[in-house]
Amino acid sequence: MNLLPTIAKHLSSHEPVVFSGTDPGIVVTSVTVPRSLDSIFTDINRFQVIAAIEDGPDDSADTTPYAFDVNRLPKPSKISAGLINQATFLRRHQNKDRRRRQQGVDEATLRNKLDKAKRERELRTKKAYGKVTAVERRYIRAHARLPRDVPEPTLIHFIGHYQGINSSIKGHSRRGMAKIRAQHRVHGNVAITNEYNTSKTCSFCFSKVVLHRARRIILGKERIIRLNGAVECVHPRCPARRKNYTTRGRDANAASNIALSGASIILASDRRRLPCFRRDATKHTRYSLVSNLTVVTPELVPRDSIRDE
Ligand SMILES: [Zn+2]
Repeated sequence: MNLLPTIAKHLSSHEPVVFSGTDPGIVVTSVTVPRSLDSIFTDINRFQVIAAIEDGPDDSADTTPYAFDVNRLPKPSKISAGLINQATFLRRHQNKDRRRRQQGVDEATLRNKLDKAKRERELRTKKAYGKVTAVERRYIRAHARLPRDVPEPTLIHFIGHYQGINSSIKGHSRRGMAKIRAQHRVHGNVAITNEYNTSKTCSFCFSKVVLHRARRIILGKERIIRLNGAVECVHPRCPARRKNYTTRGRDANAASNIALSGASIILASDRRRLPCFRRDATKHTRYSLVSNLTVVTPELVPRDSIRDE
Protein backbone atom coordinates (compact mmCIF):
# COMPACT_ATOMS: atom_id res chain seq x y z
CA MET A 1 0.00 0.00 0.00
CA ASN A 2 1.68 3.19 -1.14
CA LEU A 3 0.13 6.20 0.52
CA LEU A 4 2.76 8.69 -0.57
CA PRO A 5 0.72 9.93 -3.57
CA THR A 6 -2.16 10.71 -1.19
CA ILE A 7 0.17 12.80 0.92
CA ALA A 8 1.69 14.53 -2.11
CA LYS A 9 -1.84 15.42 -3.22
CA HIS A 10 -2.57 16.94 0.17
CA LEU A 11 0.45 19.19 -0.22
CA SER A 12 -0.16 20.19 -3.82
CA SER A 13 -3.92 20.43 -4.31
CA HIS A 14 -5.34 20.73 -0.81
CA GLU A 15 -7.07 17.40 -0.84
CA PRO A 16 -6.51 16.92 2.84
CA VAL A 17 -5.37 13.82 4.65
CA VAL A 18 -5.75 13.23 8.38
CA PHE A 19 -3.91 10.59 10.36
CA SER A 20 -4.72 8.72 13.49
CA GLY A 21 -2.70 6.43 15.73
CA THR A 22 -4.33 3.64 17.71
CA ASP A 23 -2.93 1.79 20.68
CA PRO A 24 -4.87 -1.46 21.07
CA GLY A 25 -5.40 -2.74 24.58
CA ILE A 26 -7.46 -5.07 26.71
CA VAL A 27 -9.44 -3.11 29.29
CA VAL A 28 -9.85 -0.30 26.81
CA THR A 29 -10.00 -1.93 23.38
CA SER A 30 -8.46 1.01 21.61
CA VAL A 31 -7.07 4.45 22.33
CA THR A 32 -6.86 6.68 19.26
CA VAL A 33 -5.18 10.03 18.80
CA PRO A 34 -5.87 12.23 15.73
CA ARG A 35 -2.87 13.79 13.97
CA SER A 36 -2.45 16.34 11.22
CA LEU A 37 0.16 15.98 8.49
CA ASP A 38 1.68 19.20 9.80
CA SER A 39 2.22 17.71 13.25
CA ILE A 40 3.92 14.66 11.71
CA PHE A 41 6.34 16.88 9.78
CA THR A 42 6.98 18.95 12.89
CA ASP A 43 7.81 15.81 14.87
CA ILE A 44 10.17 14.47 12.19
CA ASN A 45 11.84 17.87 12.00
CA ARG A 46 12.27 17.97 15.78
CA PHE A 47 13.65 14.45 15.79
CA GLN A 48 16.27 15.42 13.19
CA VAL A 49 17.34 18.54 15.06
CA ILE A 50 17.59 16.84 18.46
CA ALA A 51 19.49 13.88 16.93
CA ALA A 52 21.98 16.30 15.37
CA ILE A 53 22.52 18.10 18.66
CA GLU A 54 22.97 14.91 20.65
CA ASP A 55 25.38 13.63 18.03
CA GLY A 56 27.42 16.82 18.23
CA PRO A 57 29.96 17.95 20.85
CA ASP A 58 29.19 16.82 24.38
CA ASP A 59 26.99 19.40 26.04
CA SER A 60 25.57 17.30 28.85
CA ALA A 61 26.12 20.26 31.17
CA ASP A 62 23.40 22.13 29.31
CA THR A 63 20.06 21.40 30.93
CA THR A 64 17.92 24.10 29.36
CA PRO A 65 14.94 22.47 27.65
CA TYR A 66 15.11 22.57 23.84
CA ALA A 67 13.32 25.67 22.59
CA PHE A 68 10.61 23.94 20.57
CA ASP A 69 7.08 25.10 21.07
CA VAL A 70 5.20 21.81 21.50
CA ASN A 71 1.50 21.21 21.96
CA ARG A 72 -0.10 18.84 24.41
CA LEU A 73 -1.36 15.61 22.86
CA PRO A 74 -4.95 15.76 21.66
CA LYS A 75 -7.58 14.12 23.82
CA PRO A 76 -7.80 10.51 22.70
CA SER A 77 -10.91 8.70 21.48
CA LYS A 78 -11.47 5.50 23.43
CA ILE A 79 -13.43 2.41 22.52
CA SER A 80 -13.94 0.03 25.43
CA ALA A 81 -15.22 -3.54 25.54
CA GLY A 82 -17.87 -2.39 28.01
CA LEU A 83 -19.21 0.15 25.52
CA ILE A 84 -19.62 -2.55 22.87
CA ASN A 85 -21.08 -5.09 25.30
CA GLN A 86 -23.68 -2.64 26.44
CA ALA A 87 -24.70 -1.87 22.89
CA THR A 88 -24.95 -5.55 22.00
CA PHE A 89 -27.07 -6.51 25.04
CA LEU A 90 -24.61 -9.23 26.07
CA ARG A 91 -25.03 -8.44 29.75
CA ARG A 92 -28.80 -8.21 29.45
CA HIS A 93 -29.02 -11.57 27.69
CA GLN A 94 -26.80 -13.19 30.28
CA ASN A 95 -29.02 -11.90 33.09
CA LYS A 96 -32.19 -13.08 31.37
CA ASP A 97 -30.72 -16.56 30.88
CA ARG A 98 -29.77 -16.79 34.54
CA ARG A 99 -33.26 -15.79 35.60
CA ARG A 100 -34.86 -18.41 33.35
CA ARG A 101 -32.60 -21.08 34.79
CA GLN A 102 -33.58 -20.09 38.31
CA GLN A 103 -37.24 -20.35 37.30
CA GLY A 104 -36.61 -23.89 36.07
CA VAL A 105 -37.39 -23.30 32.38
CA ASP A 106 -36.79 -26.51 30.38
CA GLU A 107 -33.58 -27.12 28.42
CA ALA A 108 -35.15 -26.97 24.92
CA THR A 109 -36.80 -23.61 25.51
CA LEU A 110 -33.59 -22.30 27.07
CA ARG A 111 -31.56 -23.29 24.03
CA ASN A 112 -34.14 -21.76 21.74
CA LYS A 113 -34.05 -18.46 23.60
CA LEU A 114 -30.25 -18.47 23.65
CA ASP A 115 -30.07 -19.01 19.89
CA LYS A 116 -32.46 -16.16 19.29
CA ALA A 117 -30.51 -13.89 21.63
CA LYS A 118 -27.29 -14.82 19.86
CA ARG A 119 -28.68 -13.86 16.45
CA GLU A 120 -29.91 -10.58 17.88
CA ARG A 121 -26.47 -9.90 19.32
CA GLU A 122 -24.72 -10.59 16.03
CA LEU A 123 -26.85 -7.98 14.31
CA ARG A 124 -26.40 -5.55 17.17
CA THR A 125 -22.64 -6.15 17.27
CA LYS A 126 -22.31 -5.19 13.63
CA LYS A 127 -24.34 -2.05 14.19
CA ALA A 128 -22.49 -1.19 17.41
CA TYR A 129 -19.07 -1.32 15.74
CA GLY A 130 -20.41 0.72 12.85
CA LYS A 131 -21.65 3.36 15.26
CA VAL A 132 -18.65 3.68 17.58
CA THR A 133 -16.16 3.75 14.72
CA ALA A 134 -18.20 6.40 12.89
CA VAL A 135 -18.04 8.56 16.01
CA GLU A 136 -14.29 8.03 16.12
CA ARG A 137 -13.82 9.02 12.47
CA ARG A 138 -15.88 12.14 12.99
CA TYR A 139 -13.60 13.04 15.91
CA ILE A 140 -10.45 12.46 13.80
CA ARG A 141 -11.81 14.61 10.96
CA ALA A 142 -12.85 17.38 13.34
CA HIS A 143 -9.25 17.55 14.57
CA ALA A 144 -8.15 18.78 11.15
CA ARG A 145 -10.43 21.84 11.52
CA LEU A 146 -11.03 22.08 7.79
CA PRO A 147 -13.10 24.85 6.24
CA ARG A 148 -16.53 23.79 5.03
CA ASP A 149 -15.83 24.00 1.30
CA VAL A 150 -12.84 21.63 1.47
CA PRO A 151 -13.55 18.02 0.41
CA GLU A 152 -13.76 15.31 3.08
CA PRO A 153 -10.25 14.41 4.14
CA THR A 154 -8.70 11.04 3.40
CA LEU A 155 -8.16 9.14 6.61
CA ILE A 156 -5.07 7.06 7.30
CA HIS A 157 -5.38 4.99 10.47
CA PHE A 158 -2.19 3.57 11.92
CA ILE A 159 -3.14 0.75 14.25
CA GLY A 160 -0.69 -1.03 16.54
CA HIS A 161 -0.06 -4.68 15.70
CA TYR A 162 -0.74 -5.99 19.21
CA GLN A 163 -2.81 -9.18 19.06
CA GLY A 164 -3.74 -9.68 22.69
CA ILE A 165 -2.22 -13.15 22.90
CA ASN A 166 -0.62 -14.23 26.20
CA SER A 167 -1.91 -11.29 28.11
CA SER A 168 -5.51 -11.76 29.11
CA ILE A 169 -6.40 -10.03 32.34
CA LYS A 170 -8.96 -11.99 34.32
CA GLY A 171 -12.35 -10.42 34.76
CA HIS A 172 -12.28 -8.33 31.61
CA SER A 173 -14.33 -9.32 28.65
CA ARG A 174 -12.28 -8.90 25.53
CA ARG A 175 -13.23 -7.34 22.27
CA GLY A 176 -10.82 -7.53 19.38
CA MET A 177 -9.54 -4.84 17.10
CA ALA A 178 -10.46 -6.80 13.96
CA LYS A 179 -14.00 -5.43 13.77
CA ILE A 180 -12.83 -1.88 14.45
CA ARG A 181 -10.18 -2.18 11.74
CA ALA A 182 -12.70 -3.64 9.29
CA GLN A 183 -15.04 -0.68 9.80
CA HIS A 184 -12.31 1.94 9.40
CA ARG A 185 -11.05 0.18 6.28
CA VAL A 186 -14.43 0.74 4.58
CA HIS A 187 -14.07 4.51 4.96
CA GLY A 188 -10.31 5.04 4.81
CA ASN A 189 -6.89 3.45 4.89
CA VAL A 190 -5.76 1.17 7.68
CA ALA A 191 -2.07 0.43 8.16
CA ILE A 192 -1.02 -2.08 10.81
CA THR A 193 2.00 -0.57 12.50
CA ASN A 194 4.76 -2.24 14.47
CA GLU A 195 4.51 -0.95 18.03
CA TYR A 196 8.19 -1.35 18.84
CA ASN A 197 9.25 1.33 21.37
CA THR A 198 6.09 3.37 20.85
CA SER A 199 5.00 3.06 24.48
CA LYS A 200 8.51 3.69 25.82
CA THR A 201 9.40 6.76 23.80
CA CYS A 202 8.66 10.39 24.63
CA SER A 203 6.56 11.94 21.83
CA PHE A 204 8.41 15.24 22.27
CA CYS A 205 12.12 14.51 22.73
CA PHE A 206 12.17 10.82 21.65
CA SER A 207 14.10 9.67 24.72
CA LYS A 208 12.99 6.80 26.96
CA VAL A 209 10.07 7.50 29.27
CA VAL A 210 9.57 5.88 32.68
CA LEU A 211 6.34 4.78 34.32
CA HIS A 212 5.09 7.65 36.41
CA ARG A 213 5.74 7.32 40.13
CA ALA A 214 3.74 8.86 42.91
CA ARG A 215 3.95 8.98 46.70
CA ARG A 216 1.17 7.15 48.46
CA ILE A 217 0.59 6.26 52.06
CA ILE A 218 0.17 2.49 52.20
CA LEU A 219 -0.47 0.86 55.61
CA GLY A 220 0.70 4.00 57.35
CA LYS A 221 3.99 4.18 55.46
CA GLU A 222 4.92 6.47 52.63
CA ARG A 223 5.80 4.46 49.54
CA ILE A 224 6.71 5.25 45.98
CA ILE A 225 4.35 3.44 43.63
CA ARG A 226 4.23 3.22 39.88
CA LEU A 227 1.14 4.48 38.16
CA ASN A 228 0.55 2.31 35.15
CA GLY A 229 -1.73 4.76 33.43
CA ALA A 230 0.90 7.47 33.05
CA VAL A 231 4.42 7.85 31.70
CA GLU A 232 6.96 10.49 32.61
CA CYS A 233 9.77 11.92 30.52
CA VAL A 234 12.82 12.55 32.68
CA HIS A 235 15.05 14.04 29.98
CA PRO A 236 16.28 17.39 31.35
CA ARG A 237 16.02 19.05 27.93
CA CYS A 238 12.60 17.69 26.92
CA PRO A 239 10.64 20.54 25.28
CA ALA A 240 7.50 19.29 27.09
CA ARG A 241 9.07 20.74 30.25
CA ARG A 242 8.15 24.17 28.99
CA LYS A 243 4.50 23.17 29.13
CA ASN A 244 4.76 21.21 32.41
CA TYR A 245 3.76 18.20 30.38
CA THR A 246 6.48 15.67 31.21
CA THR A 247 3.83 13.36 32.74
CA ARG A 248 1.08 12.24 30.40
CA GLY A 249 -1.30 9.40 29.61
CA ARG A 250 0.56 6.25 28.67
CA ASP A 251 -1.89 5.21 25.94
CA ALA A 252 -2.17 8.65 24.35
CA ASN A 253 1.65 8.95 24.25
CA ALA A 254 1.84 5.51 22.62
CA ALA A 255 -0.99 6.17 20.15
CA SER A 256 0.62 9.42 19.02
CA ASN A 257 3.91 7.56 18.49
CA ILE A 258 2.20 4.77 16.55
CA ALA A 259 0.92 7.37 14.06
CA LEU A 260 4.37 8.96 13.84
CA SER A 261 6.13 5.62 13.46
CA GLY A 262 3.76 4.51 10.68
CA ALA A 263 3.71 7.85 8.87
CA SER A 264 7.51 8.12 9.02
CA ILE A 265 7.78 4.94 6.91
CA ILE A 266 5.60 6.43 4.16
CA LEU A 267 7.63 9.63 4.24
CA ALA A 268 11.08 8.00 4.25
CA SER A 269 13.28 7.79 1.18
CA ASP A 270 14.31 4.25 2.14
CA ARG A 271 10.90 3.27 3.57
CA ARG A 272 12.43 2.93 7.04
CA ARG A 273 10.78 4.42 10.09
CA LEU A 274 12.25 7.01 12.48
CA PRO A 275 15.26 5.39 14.18
CA CYS A 276 13.73 5.70 17.68
CA PHE A 277 11.11 3.12 16.64
CA ARG A 278 13.58 0.74 14.95
CA ARG A 279 14.85 -2.39 16.58
CA ASP A 280 18.28 -2.25 14.93
CA ALA A 281 18.99 1.46 15.17
CA THR A 282 22.09 2.85 16.86
CA LYS A 283 22.58 6.32 18.26
CA HIS A 284 23.96 7.44 14.92
CA THR A 285 21.26 6.03 12.67
CA ARG A 286 19.80 8.79 10.53
CA TYR A 287 16.38 9.26 9.02
CA SER A 288 15.94 10.66 5.53
CA LEU A 289 12.77 12.15 4.14
CA VAL A 290 11.69 11.34 0.55
CA SER A 291 13.33 13.85 -1.74
CA ASN A 292 10.29 14.98 -3.73
CA LEU A 293 8.63 16.12 -0.52
CA THR A 294 11.53 18.02 0.96
CA VAL A 295 10.66 21.19 -0.96
CA VAL A 296 7.37 21.48 0.83
CA THR A 297 8.40 20.33 4.27
CA PRO A 298 9.48 22.90 6.81
CA GLU A 299 13.17 23.68 6.65
CA LEU A 300 15.29 22.16 9.35
CA VAL A 301 15.62 24.57 12.20
CA PRO A 302 19.27 25.66 12.43
CA ARG A 303 20.85 24.59 15.67
CA ASP A 304 21.46 28.09 17.00
CA SER A 305 17.91 29.27 16.57
CA ILE A 306 16.48 26.74 18.98
CA ARG A 307 18.80 27.70 21.79
CA ASP A 308 17.91 30.00 24.57
CA GLU A 309 20.10 33.04 24.84
ZN1 LIG B 1 10.68 14.02 26.51
